[in-house]
Amino acid sequence: MAGDGCLLVMVVDLHPQLAEQESNVHNYLSACISFANIHLAANVKNTLAVIAANHLETRFLYPQITGKTVDRQKDGRLELLCQVDESIERELRNMIVPDPKADQTESLISGAIGRGLLYIKRQETEDVLGKKVHARILVVKISLDTGSQYLNYINTYLTAQKISTPLDVCVIGSDCGLLQQGADISGGYYHCVQEVSELLQCLILMYQADVVTRKKLNVPPPDSVDYRAACFCHRTLVDMGNVCSNCLSVYCKAVPLCTTCNVIFQTDRPLMKIVKKKK
Ligand SMILES: [Zn+2]
Ligand SMILES: [Zn+2]
Repeated sequence: MAGDGCLLVMVVDLHPQLAEQESNVHNYLSACISFANIHLAANVKNTLAVIAANHLETRFLYPQITGKTVDRQKDGRLELLCQVDESIERELRNMIVPDPKADQTESLISGAIGRGLLYIKRQETEDVLGKKVHARILVVKISLDTGSQYLNYINTYLTAQKISTPLDVCVIGSDCGLLQQGADISGGYYHCVQEVSELLQCLILMYQADVVTRKKLNVPPPDSVDYRAACFCHRTLVDMGNVCSNCLSVYCKAVPLCTTCNVIFQTDRPLMKIVKKKK
């Protein structure tokens, strides 16, 4: 696998919460860009895509769809790495904006993962020899999550599993149960670091090796996965809930009607009878 090179799709969280922690922004972004550089420098056949997600949009930072001309290298660096850095930096400036109203929102990580999966699929279909592209996705997440994209996440995880693309996840700060499920479902690796300063070290030690090599490394054992589902009414993770027998939608409390498939639940509870009489 190593001889064929690997396509790494990085999904980088750029939620406005990041702009508030000024001391961390530089470390966070430079860790992400350095890791992208390391991946490209490790094997001449390695390729890269970087997708950023904030609460409003997802955007390809690299490669750029509009082929802008890049200055030739000046400092003796590999030209490709120089292009990657400039392209990412240019787009980052447009995306990081402080937004005081954004606290209640979450980054569109699931959308970015979806775009990453499509990008991988497109590389495969455009390959002249029709070869399978060895690809993996790495999600770096720093903002808090609310579970509002539960279904989108699960759909991308199942797609990743189907096209055998591992989804690696590195979160900073508090654990993210939803992304942990994704790593487990797709055969990727999940790890949570406490401080931004630990990020680059963690990325190099644990996420740089491909999936085959990783099995030979002595990495920390995976935590037990939190497989709770999010209810469809409040988008919060629930320990115990009601499930629609028709479409498997999850509700945190008994509801008279499934909002997903419009099935009316047949129960003998007096509450239901009162509701029907009113109609
Ligand atoms: Zn609920
Ligand atoms: Zn239903």
